Formats: sequence, C-alpha cells, structure tokens
Amino acid sequence: MKIRAVKGMNDILPEEARKFQRVERVFRETVECYGFRELRTPLVEDLSLFHKSTGETSEVVQKQMFLLDRSDERLALRPEGTPSAARVYIGNKMQAREPVTKWFYIGPMFRAERPQRGRYRQFYQAGCELYGDPGPICDAEMIDMLYRMTQKLAIPGCQVLINTLGGAEARLAYRTRLVEFFEPNKSALSEHARARLLDNPLRILDSKDPRDQEACAGAPMLLDCLTPQDAEHFSMVQAALRDLGTPFVVDPRLVRGLDYYTRTCFEIVSTGGEIGSQSALLGGGRYDGMLEGLGGEPTPAIGFAMGLERILLAMGSANTQEEPPLCFIAPLGSSTFGACLKVASRLRESGVWVELDARGNSLKSMLRRANNMGARVALVMGDAELEGGTIQVKNLTGHDSTTVSQQDAPLHVLALLHRKDQTSEAIS
Ligand code: AMP
Repeated sequence: MKIRAVKGMNDILPEEARKFQRVERVFRETVECYGFRELRTPLVEDLSLFHKSTGETSEVVQKQMFLLDRSDERLALRPEGTPSAARVYIGNKMQAREPVTKWFYIGPMFRAERPQRGRYRQFYQAGCELYGDPGPICDAEMIDMLYRMTQKLAIPGCQVLINTLGGAEARLAYRTRLVEFFEPNKSALSEHARARLLDNPLRILDSKDPRDQEACAGAPMLLDCLTPQDAEHFSMVQAALRDLGTPFVVDPRLVRGLDYYTRTCFEIVSTGGEIGSQSALLGGGRYDGMLEGLGGEPTPAIGFAMGLERILLAMGSANTQEEPPLCFIAPLGSSTFGACLKVASRLRESGVWVELDARGNSLKSMLRRANNMGARVALVMGDAELEGGTIQVKNLTGHDSTTVSQQDAPLHVLALLHRKDQTSEAIS
C-alpha cells in the first residue's frame, strides 16, 4: 500500500519553502517595526479553549476541529492562533506587567475543511495580537501596517475592506432586527442559515448559498444600530487611515467568520495572482470581550491572521526567489578530500553555500551536477594540485578557469561570485 499525505495537508518542498521564508521575513521585519514580538505556543490545546473563545456557534468549532481524543482529556489541534495567545496573556498576568502587549506568531493551523485551491486542512498563518489599547488609532495603524506589507510583497490587486460590528449593545440590537427581518421569510433560507437564525443570525450575511444571498437583499445594516460611541470609534479609524494614506473601502457586509469580533473588523482581498475564489489574504478585528469571557480581566484587544499559502498564490509568479550563489567542490580522488574539506570550511565561514561532492564520480559527471545545481564556480583538485598546494577555479558562467593557491582560493571564489560579468580577468 502506498503511503500518501493526508488530504488537504501539503508537503512544502525546498523551492516552495524559500518562498514561504521570504514572506515570513517581510512579515517579521514589518511587524517588528511596530513593536510586535514573537510568541510561540503549542499546536495542541484543551478543546474547551476554542469553545470559549473562537465560539460555539462558529463554523470552525462546530465542524472543523481536529480532535485528539484521549481517555482523560479532550485536546484539539489549534484552528487559529488568537485563543492560545489570549490564554498566555491571561495566564502570565500580562496586564499587570505592561499596559500594552503586542505579540506576533507564525505557524501551522488545522481545520477539517473540504480542501480546494487556497483552502487546506493544514495551512500557515502569520498573525498579530495587541492587548490593552481600545483604539481607534491602533486599529488604523494595524490596518495600515498590513496594507504596507502587501505593497512590500508586490501583491497585485489588493483592496482593504473595513467595517464595524459595534459593541455588545449594538450587536444585540442588530441581532433582534435581523431575526425580525428573516423570520417572516425563513422558508427562503438554506437549511444551514435557518439554524443560524437561532444561534448567530449575523453569519447568514456571510453565507455563500445563492438562496441566502438573495434573502439578504434589503436586510438591515449593522451600521444603523451603532451606538454614538461605536460610530465615533469607526469614524476615527477611517480618519486615521486617511491621514496615513491607506486606501480602504467600507464594506457593511463584512462580518468575519469567528464569533468574537467587536467594533473594527477588516480584510485584505486580492483579485490578482492565481488565488481564484479564496480571495481573502488576511482578516482580523477587535475582540474586546474575549479575554473577560476566558476568565481574564476586561481587556481591549485587536488582532489579525494572514494565510501564507493565500499570500503566495496571490503573489503568483512575482514571487521568484533567487538562490544565493553556490560554489561546487570536485575532489579527484580520496587523497584530496582533506584539503578540499579545509577549503570548503573556509568558504562556508565566509557565508558561501558550498557543495562538496565526495562520492568518487568522474570530473565530467561532477561538473554536470554543478551546472544542474546552478553553481557559478567549481573548484577542482587532483593529485597535481594537492602536491603544489593549489586548486583549479572554474568560472562556470564565463567558462574560463585559473589555478590559484589553496590559501587564496576563498578570495578568488568570493570575487567571482560577487561579480556581475562573470569573467575572471579581473581576479588575477
Ligand atoms: P480566519 O482565521 O478564518 O479569520 O482566516 C484568516 C486568514 O487565514 C484567511 O484570510 C486566509 O488567508 C487564511 N485561511 C483561513 N482558513 C484557511 C484554510 N483552510 N486554508 C488556507 N488558508 C486559510
């Protein structure tokens, strides 16, 4: 029987991994400039954490949890990073240590979904959480930071969507109005949406089912239920975004899939690249009530998560990662291994990527391998070079070669690797 990878869980081979690394590097560099510091948490949590935070009525908790059932404990693979960070914040009494806490994380998340392009059962998220600031300025700064990151990554066709979900009071009022709106016509809704009508009618607005989309036409807007304080908060987010020069669109239908959001919520979508229908690159929002619900002090909080696979799809072929230059060492016979190892060590100490081929193959086959690997320089050492304390330096792009002392070899290699024209006249 052939052993296959689990459906919706992808292997990331080295070429692809380099693309991930680049996005992760840009993410880190960007968020560190805004004061976010890295938090690492386990992949496995107590299932109840997600029930209490992600929300009992969210699709993720209802349908997509990967459970690890053991006789004495109910554990789950994390479907998102926010609950774990909240647990750490509360458990470490962070609010007593510092007024504002800013964390970021990068890592795999697990959701038992039906896999499709841009939607997997294991995927990577990079996200930030900010505790202790009720906004609205930090909300705008976070959105602006993300927009700038998408620009740095040159992701085509990005659009920032924002909305407010209001505070608890507005949500309650809105919920009542939505139920009143859908109730008389509920037979037109999908079965799924009818169930939502009882537990979380806001989610009906998010439904992809055409019946629900039709039924949503003319539904009341949350913006009409906001308290004056909610409205003021939202208009200040928008004013700050204008000050920052971040383009955005207010999308009154943006509700986000998780239960805990309050006030500001946002998404960045892309229409470019190879992303297809899963166009949301990242999403987030304020969750001022969650920490209290988890047994912590009342703490305002805002965060987001971006899907790395989606970012890569949206970048498409724009994300070409050049490999650093490679130097290939071809020893001709085991007597030269010792001297070649020494040259390799010195080159690696200077930061050069070195491939030493000590399998005992012919020079021709070693040089073919060097070319296939994209090496720019090959160093060849036979018995004659060994005796003379020298080594041949072959410029694989200029196809010329020279013999230099083993002592000087690293200097010659570095000069060749860092030259644009790739001919060796200038190194003598
Ligand atoms: P969420 O945690 O659901 O708010 O999603 C935040 C971001 O994570 C989305 O905008 C996607 O980029 C990414 N994401 C969520 N679910 C998946 C999935 N199943 N596969 C790939 N990326 C995902």
